[in-house]
Amino acid sequence: MLVAVHGADDKRVEAGHAAKGPAYSCPGCKAPVTLAKGRIRRPYFGHRPGAACSYAALETWEHQQAKEDFATAYRARGLMCDVEIEVLSIDGDRRADVLLHAPDDAYRVALEVQNSPLDYTALEVRTTAYLNARVPVIWVPILIRKRLGDVQRIAGTNIYYISHFSAAPWQLWIHDLQGGLWYYDPVARGVWRGVLDDCMLYRNPTTWFADGDEHSAGGHWYSSERWSSLFLEGPFDLSQLRVKRVKRALRKRRAYHLPAGIGADFILADEPRDYAMPARIGRTKADGPGDFHYYRAEHRVDNQWVSASLEASVLPDTIRTFE
Ligand SMILES: [Zn+2]
Repeated sequence: MLVAVHGADDKRVEAGHAAKGPAYSCPGCKAPVTLAKGRIRRPYFGHRPGAACSYAALETWEHQQAKEDFATAYRARGLMCDVEIEVLSIDGDRRADVLLHAPDDAYRVALEVQNSPLDYTALEVRTTAYLNARVPVIWVPILIRKRLGDVQRIAGTNIYYISHFSAAPWQLWIHDLQGGLWYYDPVARGVWRGVLDDCMLYRNPTTWFADGDEHSAGGHWYSSERWSSLFLEGPFDLSQLRVKRVKRALRKRRAYHLPAGIGADFILADEPRDYAMPARIGRTKADGPGDFHYYRAEHRVDNQWVSASLEASVLPDTIRTFE
């Protein structure tokens, strides 16, 4: 964990700003904790072995680095934020990973960095608790590069396409709630905007014999149960991110209901780019794998938007569309 308390007034201190010497204790269970400052690992506070405290759960370095990077970027803009701070009206673990304060402290927004696979119902419960506490939450999954599989760059853009991405249900849940994903990339120390969509697969025509007759079924497209397609744009520097509040209605997606209320999302502060995230335009009648136009991608050339269809099925052709 990154925050401990010390002194008679339980003053909060972050591990990155703490000096060795004073006696630190856990903000949760009040037990003594040790400041660990290695040469390689970033500083953190640790409980004694065997501590039965929910704050003692082990966190990955990616998770800790994410919290520090968001806090550093926000503070560099002169804004106030807290790391691992309790939001009192939340049940269970009351700490928000990062709590952002709007200028003049008009409202607060929580960032929750998500790394481990978990049931999306846990996200739903926590998101609803935040909504009830009037603190909108932005969920930020961590991008694990080695799990991306084959990545193809769309020429002339910073958009990358992964045709077969295994998106866990909790990532789909966040995607559906927020209308996209902001992945924290621990390698680039920035974020990627991610858009998930159906992965369309082609089933070849088949013929078979039954009852002495030949039967056949034509080839057709279908949406994969196992895979999603993923477009990633980035990486963006954390200083480019702004927070906006959004009003969300109750919606039903897949097997779940998405909570309604005042939520929050990131938007990019910088100037518009010369290309846009590919947009789904549906399917054309397909006679074969090569005929499936699924996305439209737009490029600005000499101040004019030029659009091109993407064939989601055949990657090399997809990429060539832009060249
Ligand atoms: Zn503790």
